[in-house]
Amino acid sequence: MIKLADLEAQYQEIEAELVPAVTRVLKSGRYILGSEVDAFEQEFAAFCQAKHAVGVNSGTSALHLALLAAGVKAGDEVITVPYTFVATVAAILYIGAKPVFVDIRPDTYTMDADQIASKITPRTKAILPVHLYGQPADMEPILAIAKKHGLPVIEDAAQAHGALYKGKPVGAIGDIGCFSFYPAKNLGACGEGGAVTTNNPAYAQTVRLLRSWGEEKRYFHKYKGFNYRMDNIQGAALRVKLRHLEKWNRARQELARLYGKTLPQDKVIAPVVAPDRTHVYHIYVVRCRIPRDQIRETLNRQGIDSALHYPVPVHLQEAYSDLGYKRGDFPVAEKAAEEVLTLPLHTHMTPEQVKTVAQAVAAI
Ligand SMILES: *Cc1c(COP(=O)(O)O)cnc(C)c1O
Repeated sequence: MIKLADLEAQYQEIEAELVPAVTRVLKSGRYILGSEVDAFEQEFAAFCQAKHAVGVNSGTSALHLALLAAGVKAGDEVITVPYTFVATVAAILYIGAKPVFVDIRPDTYTMDADQIASKITPRTKAILPVHLYGQPADMEPILAIAKKHGLPVIEDAAQAHGALYKGKPVGAIGDIGCFSFYPAKNLGACGEGGAVTTNNPAYAQTVRLLRSWGEEKRYFHKYKGFNYRMDNIQGAALRVKLRHLEKWNRARQELARLYGKTLPQDKVIAPVVAPDRTHVYHIYVVRCRIPRDQIRETLNRQGIDSALHYPVPVHLQEAYSDLGYKRGDFPVAEKAAEEVLTLPLHTHMTPEQVKTVAQAVAAI
């Protein structure tokens, strides 16, 4: 059996560090926010080369509060991509703002900056690129057009902890970064978690207040806020795991390199990494040149898991049909949704397992 992710194996590796860290919190009686969250925020900000990090209870909450901090209001428009996990788009809708989509690039699956200009209107209030699968979007042209129109750029970095764009880690390249610590992400909590990163002290302070009922001091509410606080246990667990993240990302990159060498190029196209970026392979996604179902069935028969990220772009999802888009609006995203396939890749996978998967594909 070769699984897509293996959190049990990850636990085994760090059990001796993780259990005392969590136990410390259990004994402290301080369960929501607290010293572990404070310390994690410092350490995660340093990791992202950001001045501030604010811990919250999920990546979705991070996106929601980042948009609010950036000043997005009901009726405003936010430019993003339809080819992402639905949370990116849902966070915009939580505010009553309107997601305005631009297509992705066929090679990196990230925002096509050339399509942004034609979508900017007087209502546009932010641009929200997604660093999909673990590779940063092409930030320089996105930042250039944002600057020209005075728009903040919010990075959805939920899949890309530690990925570099022109040598700079994601999260503080744009104005605000949003991270998820869903357990299977490259940096995962023992439950839900997320963070907002920024160099802007005003944004950081707004997010800090909004995550806890907009409270400036006890029972004095400056803003209408939310219950989006991070658990202290998650702060403790994340501090332990952050110490392993660079090594784990390197392990993912090694396995990806091996996949690239061993996968049959006539059947699948390996991920394309732009020369000015690093990819941290939150997931390893190939593009199929032969029928995808045939590959999946063959792998499944041999006990090898696979998945689709994502089978339907957001603009064609039933839940978001009221956004008014139709098939054909974003042809690059639609074609990707038909051709992509996620193969197993996680930090505790062995090179032999990668070869087994590659050989199974080659034998089709
Ligand atoms: C996981 C993810 C989110 C949401 O994070 P949660 O912690 O699950 O709320 C948002 N955007 C992307 C691209 C993601 O992969």
